[in-house]
Amino acid sequence: MTAPASLPLSTGDGLKMVMKVGADLANLNEAFWVPTVKIEGEEFEGTQLYRMTRGERSLPGSIMVNKHGKRFVNEAANYNDTSKAFHYFDAVEYGYINLPAWIIIDDEFTSKYTVVTSLPGEENPDWLVKADTITELANKIEVNPENLKNTVESYNNHALNGKDPEFHRGESEYNWYYGDPEHPINPSVGPIGKGPYYALRVYPGAIGTKGDAVINEHGQVLDVNEEPIPSLYAVGNVAASIMGPGYPGAGSTLGPAVAFGYLAGNHAVKKASYIPG
Ligand SMILES: Cc1cc2nc3c(=O)[nH]c(=O)nc-3n(C[C@H](O)[C@H](O)[C@H](O)COP(=O)(O)OP(=O)(O)OC[C@H]3O[C@@H](n4cnc5c(N)ncnc54)[C@H](O)[C@@H]3O)c2cc1C
Repeated sequence: MTAPASLPLSTGDGLKMVMKVGADLANLNEAFWVPTVKIEGEEFEGTQLYRMTRGERSLPGSIMVNKHGKRFVNEAANYNDTSKAFHYFDAVEYGYINLPAWIIIDDEFTSKYTVVTSLPGEENPDWLVKADTITELANKIEVNPENLKNTVESYNNHALNGKDPEFHRGESEYNWYYGDPEHPINPSVGPIGKGPYYALRVYPGAIGTKGDAVINEHGQVLDVNEEPIPSLYAVGNVAASIMGPGYPGAGSTLGPAVAFGYLAGNHAVKKASYIPG
């Protein structure tokens, strides 16, 4: 993960603090992954900021391709699971072949839908790579032009009928969540039409951590022997996520944070008011 959508000030101080007092840790190889985009100049105290992608990969008339110009995932799946495809390491090429990734869209898309911060019909921003043909676009973003042409053609063949037999995009209600309900046949699947065409670079990002202190049902931080560390509670990003590698839906981060915050608060109050008999 190189392009977090979270605050640059969040650099793991909480993790270091719980490690210092011997907390058990879990989920350190997981996060709430999200495909992000960069708008040059959007910085906080000198650090580049990144934004989440949503409609750009879920609305009809867009696809996401890898460094070879090939699709590699159901783009409209939830952000956490879509991003896992970025972590695929190819043993032959010995590298992450799905990076860099690019969202490819056509002119109709930019005139109908918002692209990150660019509103429909606005002048195209300079962070979108623009070309009159797919071949020219491929050359500009340095992916194989033949592959990209074939990818668009084969996607379009089925997208005309609202289908995506390769990655099953548009087959679940979640895929439609950020789609276009007024689009015929399938809210999330439609062909890439006439040029000019645009490419938007996508980065592997996250909106929060999942790896941190192991807690119990009261929000108490446990040590490596599964014993509560006295008077230490953790919820939110500083606690190991109860979601493991998954993403069941909206509120997967804030929901447990609020619930465990309540449980931890109650437990701490009860402990504080306990008067030994
Ligand atoms: C773009 C984006 C969209 C999101 N959308 C959703 C959503 O739709 N639904 C959902 O459930 N979740 C969402 N989340 C996730 C959610 O915002 C986080 O899970 C939540 O904010 C975590 O809360 P927290 O209090 O644990 O950590 P944080 O909100 O990160 O708070 C930690 C605080 O500690 C401070 N801090 C850090 N280091 C120190 C230090 N050394 N000393 C003192 N203070 C320190 C930080 O400045 C910060 O204020 C989103 C996150 C992002 C980034």
